[in-house]
Amino acid sequence: MTETTRSSGAVAQRALVVGGGVAGLVVARDLAAAGVAVTLVEASDRLGGEVGRHVVGGLPLDAGAESFATRGGTVQTYLDELGLGGDVVLPDPRGAWVQHGAGEAFPLPRTGLLGIPGDLTADDVVAVVGAAGTAEAARLDAAPGEVGADETSVGGLVRVRMGDAVLDRLVTPIIGGVHSVHPDLLSVDRVAPGLRPALRREGSLAAAVLSVRALAPAGSAVAGLRGGMASLAEALVAELDRLGVEVRLGAHVAVLDAGSVTLTGDAPATSPERLEADIVVLAVGDGAGRVLGGRPAHAAGLITLATLVLRDERLDAAPRGTGVLVAPGADGVRAKALTHATAKWPWLAERAGGRHVLRLSYDSPVVTAATTDDELRSTALADASVLLGMSLDPATVEDAARVEWSAPLPQEAVGASSSLPDGVVRVGGAVAGRGLAAVIAHARRVASDLLAR
Ligand SMILES: Cc1cc2nc3c(=O)[nH]c(=O)nc-3n(C[C@H](O)[C@H](O)[C@H](O)COP(=O)(O)OP(=O)(O)OC[C@H]3O[C@@H](n4cnc5c(N)ncnc54)[C@H](O)[C@@H]3O)c2cc1C
Repeated sequence: MTETTRSSGAVAQRALVVGGGVAGLVVARDLAAAGVAVTLVEASDRLGGEVGRHVVGGLPLDAGAESFATRGGTVQTYLDELGLGGDVVLPDPRGAWVQHGAGEAFPLPRTGLLGIPGDLTADDVVAVVGAAGTAEAARLDAAPGEVGADETSVGGLVRVRMGDAVLDRLVTPIIGGVHSVHPDLLSVDRVAPGLRPALRREGSLAAAVLSVRALAPAGSAVAGLRGGMASLAEALVAELDRLGVEVRLGAHVAVLDAGSVTLTGDAPATSPERLEADIVVLAVGDGAGRVLGGRPAHAAGLITLATLVLRDERLDAAPRGTGVLVAPGADGVRAKALTHATAKWPWLAERAGGRHVLRLSYDSPVVTAATTDDELRSTALADASVLLGMSLDPATVEDAARVEWSAPLPQEAVGASSSLPDGVVRVGGAVAGRGLAAVIAHARRVASDLLAR
């Protein structure tokens, strides 16, 4: 291994981190803090990846992630370390709803895990799934604990243990809203570690859900930051600056090797540049195919967020709590989810001064790059009217914004294109799974393994 000697006399290695989302920022910080000379290369013109800010109606809002999972305490500990622990806030406890057909909206059951009910007889479960659906689920879930315990996808497990009604009416909308995939494409062990062993042990999936939930600390499953999750990315960027990490923006990594990466700049005429290092960390998010110059094996879809800032006193009552997850195929709605951000986050309501912030998300091809801003704005207002059960007047909208994100590639596509040269390690969404808790915990483990080598 090549070694470079720093002015302090400490012996340091050189690391290249490709991708400046949260995963790349976390690894870069930990390596730099241990004395490694780090260069971070980011294709876009900003750091933070899927965590970022935009200003709508004069309000600084999260343009991507707006919360984190509290499980395991990983993110809270990390925020404490960054000096942001005091800004952690809990969402309003009123919870979210799920929407099926027009006018068919229900509060999400209280005792679930990813929508899988912990109590099939609870009124809030029967209300969504129906008496026949819950009776069928109870019949299936009476099978011995081994039945279905080998199912690796969330969809497969729920179908076998509780049937289609629970899957379609509860689990699919929740997984779609949180993970942007169908439950058939999501690994149980990744999003609910311990659930399959608990099924074998407890003898029913409902009991397994309750046992996994009992292990989690009491309180909200998610939390946020006063001022928005973008503060996390901003704090990390400040840390990289303090630690002397070299950051290259607008530099797309086209070729990756064990000891080097080749960059292409923004301008087509820019000649490729080769950077060498002892450690190469790939942190390019969950669209592995987007990485190395070539075209992705699967075309990545698009997630479009439409944000509306409006003034309508009827929304003060938060008619659907913190928001609504939409079941696929629900009549009359094109959005897949709505977050009533000012109902969810009291700090934001304070800043909004009586106005309301609604954030609606759309998958392609429902909304594509060809959809005009005006079309998106009126689609979002129409959907918000259906989802909130009231006709919203376009004249009350003070501002609107649009943000586009690449949808995660299916896991098997990431796997297929994931053969990396020896010595290149991968962090971030493609290997850790979606969500800040998973991404941060994994990136820290990888950084510590690299330093222990
Ligand atoms: C709209 C939205 C809402 C979300 N809400 C939540 C939430 O509330 N809670 C939660 O926990 N999670 C949420 N997530 C998910 C969470 O934001 C992500 O799991 C996490 O931020 C991913 O971090 P990452 O570093 O792995 O990837 P990314 O943030 O995607 O970062 C990857 C970076 O690599 C760069 N890059 C890609 N290719 C190259 C290349 N060839 N060369 C150089 N650079 C490259 C990209 O430009 C990007 O900056 C949300 C995501 C989205 C899109």
